[in-house]
Amino acid sequence: MVIQSTQMKDDEMKFGFDIDDTLINLREHAFTIYNQKLKKNVPLNVFLELKRVEIHEPFGLSDEQGIEMWNQSLEEIYYTTCPAFPNALQTLQQLKKQGHEIYYITARPKEHGERTKKWLIEQGFPVEDDKFFYGMQDHEKVDIIKNLKLDYYFDDKPAILETLSNHSVKAVLKDQSYNRNKNIPRIVNWTDFKEIIDNI
Ligand SMILES: [Mg+2]
Repeated sequence: MVIQSTQMKDDEMKFGFDIDDTLINLREHAFTIYNQKLKKNVPLNVFLELKRVEIHEPFGLSDEQGIEMWNQSLEEIYYTTCPAFPNALQTLQQLKKQGHEIYYITARPKEHGERTKKWLIEQGFPVEDDKFFYGMQDHEKVDIIKNLKLDYYFDDKPAILETLSNHSVKAVLKDQSYNRNKNIPRIVNWTDFKEIIDNI
């Protein structure tokens, strides 16, 4: 795919994105918050080697305590200064400029949907009301993705992408420490976006 500013309408494509840990570095942000709140100093390399999505183990928390910690911290995790991954924002802004459609599909709970949308817009992400989906379970994402007839979909959770394997959407995994065992097309850095799209 050659991205040009004078594309014909026929070349416009539909791109879908998960948000957390695909476009923004949410778990690492939460890891920093946990260190502050629990007055610990667990180093970042421990985070970078986690083999599961949950981040509580290095803080000595049980799974139950981990869920409680996550829920207690959710406000701070979601709405403070979580950074986008390098070049993620620019990539989406450029797609928008080129006339492509951008969809967000996040499993964030329903009560956080509208605030999350607002937060994304404040960060500069191109968001349209009718292209923003939230509050579904992970396994329900697949139906939305199929119904939207997306050309490409990006997510950090392999299970979601595996449910799409028989569908025409081109699914790309955002590389994370807990998904490296999966043999699915992946993007490590958003700077590689064009190359990934061209070769998938
Ligand atoms: Mg995610």
